Amino acid sequence: MKTNRRKFIKSTALTMAGASVFGSTTETGVFNSGVNQEFYIKEYRRLGRTGFNVSDIGCGTPMIMDENFLKSLLKRGVNYLDTAKLYQNGNNERMIGRAIKDFERESIFISTKFYITRDMSVDDIVSEARNARERLNCAYIDCLEMHNPTTVEEVRNPTFQKAVNKLKKEGVIHFCGITSHGQSWVNESDPMDVVLDAAVNEGYYDLFLLVYNYVQREKAEYILKRCKEHDIATTLMKTNPFGGTYLTARNAIDKYLEEGKEMPEWMKTIHDKFTLKQEKALSFLKRYGIEGEKQARDAAIRFVLNNPDVHSVMISFQNVADMNDYLSLSGSRFSYTDEALLQDCSEEINPLYCRHACGECEYVCPHKIPINTIMRFNHYFTAQKREKYAMEQYASLNTENAQHCLNCDAPCERACPYNVNIHVLLKVAHRNLTINKT
Ligand code: SF4
Ligand code: SF4
Repeated sequence: MKTNRRKFIKSTALTMAGASVFGSTTETGVFNSGVNQEFYIKEYRRLGRTGFNVSDIGCGTPMIMDENFLKSLLKRGVNYLDTAKLYQNGNNERMIGRAIKDFERESIFISTKFYITRDMSVDDIVSEARNARERLNCAYIDCLEMHNPTTVEEVRNPTFQKAVNKLKKEGVIHFCGITSHGQSWVNESDPMDVVLDAAVNEGYYDLFLLVYNYVQREKAEYILKRCKEHDIATTLMKTNPFGGTYLTARNAIDKYLEEGKEMPEWMKTIHDKFTLKQEKALSFLKRYGIEGEKQARDAAIRFVLNNPDVHSVMISFQNVADMNDYLSLSGSRFSYTDEALLQDCSEEINPLYCRHACGECEYVCPHKIPINTIMRFNHYFTAQKREKYAMEQYASLNTENAQHCLNCDAPCERACPYNVNIHVLLKVAHRNLTINKT
C-alpha cells in the first residue's frame, strides 16, 4: 500500500505536477522557454517621483547566493535590486555590493530595509542605515524601506521620519519607502491597505513594496490608485498566487511516505482531495494544451504588469532557468487566453490559497495563533524553498503555534470569507516548519 502511494506521488503527482496548475516552482526549472534564445529586459517604467526608469522585472531576495548570477541579471537589463538586512543575515546585501562593482552605480536602483522597533532612536536608525550602505559597498542607498510595519502607529513613527531626513541630508539615502505584508490580528495589527493608506497620508514615503496578485486584488488596487495620485513608486511581491499552496500538502504527504510511515487520517483526507484536483488539472491541461504551472505563473505576472500603476515586480529567482523564464515576460501583455487560464486556476486554487496580508479569521482562534503569518512562513518553505529560514522564523514566533490545530474543530475555517481549507493547511504547515516532525 505504501509503495503504491509512493508510486502515485512520484509518477503521477511529481511528474504530472510539472504540468499541474499547482506544480512546483523548482520544477519550473525543467521547462525551457521553448527556444535557446537569451531574453533581455524590454520595458522600463518611471518609478514614481524617484524619476528613475526601472526594469519592469526586478530582483527581490535572490535565492541563488551567487554574484555571477546577479551580474548576468544586470547585464540582461534588470536594474532594480531589492534586499534587506534580514536576508541571509546581511550577506544578501554584501553579495549585491560585490556584484555591482563592475557596473555604473547610477544605472542601478537599490532598496534595502530593516525593522524599526519602538525603542530605536534617530541615531540607532541612522547607524543601521550606514551599516547597510557599508554592506552594500556603495556611496548611497537609493531607497531605505521601513520593513513590514504592522500598525499605523509604526508608520507614523516621528523618529523614523527624523532619521530619514538626516540620512537624506548626509547623502546616505536618496528616498524612503515602506513594505507591507499586512495584518496579524494576534499582534493587534492593521491590514495592509490601512497601513499603506496611512503611509500615503504621511507624505514622505516615496516607494511602496506591496502584495498584489490575480486572486488578491481589491486592497492593492486601491493603494495603487492612491500611489498614482501622489506619484509614489510601486513595486510588488507575492505576485504568483499559484505557487506553494498545492505543494504545501503534496510535499508533506511525500515526505511522510518517504519516511515509510502510515498516513494519519487527516492526511489521507488531503491526499484524496488532491488526487481529485490532479484529475481536474489534467482536463484543464487538455483544454489549454499548456505547460501548467509555468503558464499560470507567467499569466499571473502579466496580469500585474498589465496594470500601468505598477512599476516593477520583484522576482525571487531560484535557479538559472528562472532567469530566462522571467525575463521573457518583460514588456509582454496580458491576453484573453491569460484571463481564461487565470480564471480556471483561481477556481482550483481558491480553497487552497490563504491570502497574503489577510488574517481576517484570526480573531476567532482561542489560542491566538497568527494564522496568516504561519502560512507566509510556509510559503517561504514551499514556494520559495527557503526551508531553513522558514523554520527559524516559525521557531522564533513569540506566540502559540499551529500545534494546537491538530486537535481543534477549526472555527477559523468557518470564519474565512474565502472558504480556504485552512485547517489542513495549518496542520501541514506545522509539520513542514517543525524540526522534530510529528
Ligand atoms: S484562512 Fe482565510 S481569512 Fe484566514 S488568513 Fe487565510 S485567507 Fe484570510
Ligand atoms: S485550527 Fe483551531 S487552533 Fe488552529 S488556528 Fe484555527 S482556531 Fe486556532
